[in-house]
Amino acid sequence: DSAVADRTVDSICPYCGVGCQLTYHVKDEQILFVEGRNGPSNQGRLCVKGRFGFDYPNHPARLTRPLIRREGVPKGMDPGFDPANPLTHFREASWEEALDLAANGLTGLKAAHGPDALAGFGSAKCSNEEAWLFQKLVRTGFGSNHVDHCTRLCHASSVAALMECLGSGAVTASFMQALQADVVILTGCNPAVNHPVAATYFKQAARNGTRLIILDPRGQALDAYAWRSVRFTPGGDVALYNAMLHVIVAEKLYDPAYIDAHTEGFEALATSVVDMTPEAMAPLCGVDPGTICELARAYAGAERAMIFWGMGISQHVHGTDNARCLISLALACGHTGRPGTGLHPLRGQNNVQGASDAGLIPMVLPDYQPVGDAQLRAAFEELWNTPLDATSGLTVVEIMDAILAGTIKGMYILGENPAMSDPDLHHARQALAALEHLVVQDLFVTETAQFADVILPASAWPEKEGTVTNTNRQVQLGRAAVAPPGEAKPDWWIIQEIARRFGLVWDYAHPREVFAEMKQGMHSLDHISWERLEDEGSVTYPCPADDAPGADVVFSDAFPRAGGRAKFSPTRPLPPDEPVDADYPTVLTTGRLLEHWHTGAMTRRSRVLDDLEPEAAASLAPAELGRLGVAPGESITIATRRGTITLVARADPRMPEGMVFVPFAFVEAAANLLTNPALDPFGKIPEFKYAACRLSPA
Ligand code: SF4
Repeated sequence: DSAVADRTVDSICPYCGVGCQLTYHVKDEQILFVEGRNGPSNQGRLCVKGRFGFDYPNHPARLTRPLIRREGVPKGMDPGFDPANPLTHFREASWEEALDLAANGLTGLKAAHGPDALAGFGSAKCSNEEAWLFQKLVRTGFGSNHVDHCTRLCHASSVAALMECLGSGAVTASFMQALQADVVILTGCNPAVNHPVAATYFKQAARNGTRLIILDPRGQALDAYAWRSVRFTPGGDVALYNAMLHVIVAEKLYDPAYIDAHTEGFEALATSVVDMTPEAMAPLCGVDPGTICELARAYAGAERAMIFWGMGISQHVHGTDNARCLISLALACGHTGRPGTGLHPLRGQNNVQGASDAGLIPMVLPDYQPVGDAQLRAAFEELWNTPLDATSGLTVVEIMDAILAGTIKGMYILGENPAMSDPDLHHARQALAALEHLVVQDLFVTETAQFADVILPASAWPEKEGTVTNTNRQVQLGRAAVAPPGEAKPDWWIIQEIARRFGLVWDYAHPREVFAEMKQGMHSLDHISWERLEDEGSVTYPCPADDAPGADVVFSDAFPRAGGRAKFSPTRPLPPDEPVDADYPTVLTTGRLLEHWHTGAMTRRSRVLDDLEPEAAASLAPAELGRLGVAPGESITIATRRGTITLVARADPRMPEGMVFVPFAFVEAAANLLTNPALDPFGKIPEFKYAACRLSPA
């Protein structure tokens, strides 16, 4: 009850990209409870993670002192290791000793092997300021562009397509615009689970008459609100969207005035879809031609329509093609640039938009300025007073390959957990173990930290000051509610200490000074000041004036491409990298749960969330379980060409037959031991959503 709290502190939820505003109620340096606040993306609402997932910073396994690996202890995940009792494998150290060891290991490798021997993973769990400092350290200290983060594993393909076709990787309209749309398509996303407060806006839109169309291989809770819920064959998405485009072109349902005024390449698109009739695509996507025609007519015929998508379609070897198709649908029908229209990849993590904007990407500088563009690079060279590498860096999965090839020898990993999140974990863990020097900065001895030479104790979100940017492009201010425990430190302070040991002259005293520097390099932050965020809590970019709220809908007049026109990018259906066959006849797909966040580092250490969902479980259609001769609650083994896990099976009528879903939050049945590391050639995103597997009773 708020009467017993000493104070309240306004901040932002640390979990999903919705970016709900919340208030911490604090007593004796402990958060008692959390309340939803009237933010622009949540209007007082919170989901179960935001409401109950606040106690992980106090978990007994929380790191409170720097740790250094004990001599002779091999790197890796020892089954006997207890993260709550790390002193069996690591010894405590002073900050001075740990920072010196961390930095000397990295500078030594750079001196011996050159800048390309080092790489860094930043984190979408950190603030914009921390992301900015981390990529600046890699670019100006390490001397390369080998810096990436989890965007590579979620929406890199969407961003690649949006950059190519629209000239900007962010959403064209907020999810609140769904309330003004006549038709809303949700495809490859499951908002009731992964963006629960955004889902409440979709429910309200449906109640008010918006036709909700859900396109996905799996069923979901929002089906109950849908005008049409259509299941397509796993991997059949490009075929389905192209068939819809065929109908729109063949029946002349497109918007010629919009196409003439705002786009280029429509003729090529129209030619490309000629043979992709609903009849021709139906066998590939599993949707009957009549339904395809109905969907196309409903979307094209709407006055205002929006498309939302998620990792169900981005995490494929054809993820970029999926996004290109959705962009083509919107451009052909003139469904961007007006209220109630737009394209919106629902961003996964609370700051994956901001961390990407701030430059945690190997091929672009902050604000998506290509590293190879000499003029754009010169602006950052002047800002940072350092020459910069003109070559794109390696991406997440490529870095793991480069370690095993012997090129990359040292890494600094901040808040990411590739020993759980990367595809084909045997390979990723082998790579982490092969590093000559690994520095991990985190809250706990995560699975990745178990490979580290030095572990630096970082700060949790309720202990931080900083800005974050949600899926709607809303820049919001997080405030520290409590102090970090023991000797744990703010992440920006730790990055700065490492930078100083690389000889960089950094002297930031507060994140607001970092934000001020960011504004010099990022026009997206024009008219957004720290003071405004303190006063207003949230400002949307792009923002036209110091007293304007920012643009909820963008690209009304022109797109940020040469000539101001958006581009159609035709695609052709491709098979999955690893189609099912007689040996591996079932499709494995992976993802998150409502209660558990990504690799579980935070939510599995949050008491209520762990109580709500305490065990790893695979979801299968009841008929699939029947075929296996397994009763719900019994265990099954799932094998792919890369690994095997055993876990409990649950009957889920929303699952299609021939498919199994496994969450990736559980180390005891790590889904990514099974997943396929094959990459989309454009976005370099792995095919998490389709691997051929074999099921058997355990
Ligand atoms: Fe947090 Fe997302 Fe839930 Fe909002 S919807 S409370 S941001 S996890």
